[in-house]
Amino acid sequence: MNDAPGFILSALLGAALGSFANVCILRLPQGESVVRPRSRCPRCQKSIRWHDNIPLFSFFFLRGRCRFCKASISLQYPLVEGTSALLAVGLYALLGGSLSFGVYLYFLLSLLVIVVIDARHQIIPDLLTLPGMGVGLGSSFFLPTGSPLQSFLGCLIGGGSLYLVAFIYRSLRGMEGLGGGDVKLLAMIGSFLGVFGAFLTLFIGSLLGSLVGLLLWIRYRKGLKTAIPFGPFLSIAAAIILFWGEKG
Ligand SMILES: [Zn+2]
Repeated sequence: MNDAPGFILSALLGAALGSFANVCILRLPQGESVVRPRSRCPRCQKSIRWHDNIPLFSFFFLRGRCRFCKASISLQYPLVEGTSALLAVGLYALLGGSLSFGVYLYFLLSLLVIVVIDARHQIIPDLLTLPGMGVGLGSSFFLPTGSPLQSFLGCLIGGGSLYLVAFIYRSLRGMEGLGGGDVKLLAMIGSFLGVFGAFLTLFIGSLLGSLVGLLLWIRYRKGLKTAIPFGPFLSIAAAIILFWGEKG
């Protein structure tokens, strides 16, 4: 590793952005501002001091408890910060400190926030997918590997194909199988990964979702009517394809 400072900076940047991702995860589903007010303990409402808000370290230093009321802090916080740091380091290994690194880090962190929000609340906020489409389309004009046509078609066909699947499902079974949030999510993914990337995401995401659905069915014998959100599987598939594509 001859570029230790670059990797260390990426890890720190990833952890810090992961801390902001946690704020988004907590507040976006509630429709609250992600900028103000300062973070508070959900139980005792005391503002969290800056030195108790250091990504990863504070959680372990405080042993997962609020300094004041000792309420336990969700493991989600260090998990999201750690994942974010790993994603940043992985991207840096592939792309170095480049414009592509910044754009794809934004994409991956949006996906990370979507995974957690969709898994917990079964919604995918437009505040994540719509700006994501804009960044995907806009960056395709100046990224070295970008193609505005691929990005535009990826957005259109990616979202359109899933819209069609949702429409057919609704017509056949008379119930909602996929939400509009999933359609916008695949449109966003297509704007970053192009047409082929969007289809591959749909394919791998469906495989992952079916596999998990099957495992849940074996474990709990619940009917297949039990809805499991699709967004996390699409997001994980898109991240796999991004790393895979940039590596090859
Ligand atoms: Zn507290």
